[in-house]
Amino acid sequence: MTARTPYEQGAPASELERLLGSLSHEGGPFSPARFAELDQLEEFPADACRVLNDFGLGRYYVPTRHGGLQASFEEVVQLWRTVARRDLTVAVAHGKTFLGAATVWVAGEPEQCALLGKEIAGGTAVSWGLTERHHGSDLLAGELTATRTEDGWRLNGEKWLINNATRGDMICVLARTAPAGGPRGFSLLLVDKRRLRAGSYHCLPKELLHGIRGADISGLSFQDADVPAEALVGGPGEGIELVLKALQFTRTVCVALSLGAADHALRLAVDFVRQRKLYDRYLVELPRVRRTLGGAATLLFLAEAVSVVASRSLHALPREMSVVSAITKAFVPTLADEMIGQLGELLGARAFMSNVYSDGMFQKLERDHRIVAIFDGSTLVNRNAVINLFPALARTYRNKRRDETGVTEAVTLTAPLPGFEPERLSLLSSMGCSVVQSLPDAVEQVQAMVSRGEGTERVARLAEELRMATEEVLREMGAYTPSPRDVPPAAFTLAARYELCFAGAACLQLWLRNLEWASTRPLWKDALWLEACLVQVLDRLRVKAALGEVEVYDRLAEALIAWQGKTAFSPLTGGGAGEGP
Ligand SMILES: Cc1cc2nc3c(=O)[nH]c(=O)nc-3n(C[C@H](O)[C@H](O)[C@H](O)COP(=O)(O)OP(=O)(O)OC[C@H]3O[C@@H](n4cnc5c(N)ncnc54)[C@H](O)[C@@H]3O)c2cc1C
Repeated sequence: MTARTPYEQGAPASELERLLGSLSHEGGPFSPARFAELDQLEEFPADACRVLNDFGLGRYYVPTRHGGLQASFEEVVQLWRTVARRDLTVAVAHGKTFLGAATVWVAGEPEQCALLGKEIAGGTAVSWGLTERHHGSDLLAGELTATRTEDGWRLNGEKWLINNATRGDMICVLARTAPAGGPRGFSLLLVDKRRLRAGSYHCLPKELLHGIRGADISGLSFQDADVPAEALVGGPGEGIELVLKALQFTRTVCVALSLGAADHALRLAVDFVRQRKLYDRYLVELPRVRRTLGGAATLLFLAEAVSVVASRSLHALPREMSVVSAITKAFVPTLADEMIGQLGELLGARAFMSNVYSDGMFQKLERDHRIVAIFDGSTLVNRNAVINLFPALARTYRNKRRDETGVTEAVTLTAPLPGFEPERLSLLSSMGCSVVQSLPDAVEQVQAMVSRGEGTERVARLAEELRMATEEVLREMGAYTPSPRDVPPAAFTLAARYELCFAGAACLQLWLRNLEWASTRPLWKDALWLEACLVQVLDRLRVKAALGEVEVYDRLAEALIAWQGKTAFSPLTGGGAGEGP
């Protein structure tokens, strides 16, 4: 049985793309000039959020079992990416509700879930209150308390740097419920601000920001704020565990913001080099410019491959998401930041100016995107999570363990996905990371194709190099002794290398399993996108690519320059949602 992918024409992301395109004319709520104006005024993009509410985007934040339209996270990623491609501030402002509701879907009572689902479908904004002013990433140090009352809980304390804290009507708050704290000392409460006693809470002032300047980033302070017993999400003391589980899907989905920003940056850069004339020729004719474009597009493909496999893994390999989500959240925003930097170099002064060239959209997206690597667990926090698992990951690779069915479902774009079952999320993956562990098999399959006269020799050789490099990384991971406090800097480098192994394995699997589906897409011809991705991964793993190999970026640049689409240049969206190649 085959399923429709979210990349086809007629899929919700393509409908949303069409709608936003029709509203991007001068004066429209999705026009660059309007976004630039709001940014300068530091004003919330209320009109754009209203458009998204009218489209019903919020219904995709609610699982189907609770009355919404969220059947797959892969689809949510494409929807979010579509918004982020237009404006990141809008995507962050609207998408916050997806994060705010996350823990309720993991452990809420059916009635609580149904009520929240209705609220979100009706446009209610929900915040997620984890962070505190003095404690940042250190959630176990949180000071906001919830104490039991006769008929519920009483909140005291402050949550700060909270998206939509002022504008939102509801907030899911992590509160200390045992004075001594500890992993079982915190609980989650879904607070409805509209039902709080007047004077028992106040909103903190909007903070002034470097990027996403129009977003409502503020905070909430509670003074003896009483909430009913039914506000509790899950059991008392389960707060930290539920947050860690919910982060597995919020981290995976929120990298859609990076994909959208990267799409936007690539389009601005390609349009610019096509029209900028220097020394009597167009910038796009300079070999160095083309090499940069091809390299940047490759970074986007790698980020996309990781995101697609990770979002499908939430359904197909849920028990492994502690690893996969951390890899994804560390890898994708970092790569997108780098890609945006490289493209900014091509734009020269126009990457720096706020009123020249496309209303200064490039400098805005560059500033806006900085936040993605910070919230929902920073890059270092996510790498730290993977470091703690090094010995287990090395062991499962050595033992050749993997969930083969899960990998097949995760990488075959036309395979129907099982429904997401939050109860299958786990804080520790006993199976390690099946995508990486399936790499040796994937390499053998590529080699077998070549011996049958299919596929390219070049790709088979690169795949074999990736296998050898991955084995070296896993050997080093196996030799690592975890240390909870003084984690050596080299371990973070090793975690970044493991992310590359995952990315390379994801690309190989996507290529192997979707050849038929993608047979008419130009980027798949002679495995062009795959070759570029493998060369990039090997280069970063410091397996020195032979001089001729980076020339694949020039071939990719040819395809990019010929591309007439306006949205995503991607191996997946050919002729579909993103009118790509
Ligand atoms: C625009 C914006 C919106 C936000 N929205 C929300 C929201 O809606 N809800 C919410 O709860 N929070 C929100 N936050 C807070 C955000 O999640 C925190 O900024 C984040 O948790 C990090 O905290 P911190 O910035 O205080 O950094 P710190 O935790 O103080 O970290 C400082 C540095 O130390 C590094 N570090 C931390 N731990 C480790 C480690 N174990 N190993 C190595 N390095 C480490 C970090 O990567 C960082 O580089 C928002 C923040 C911003 C800026």
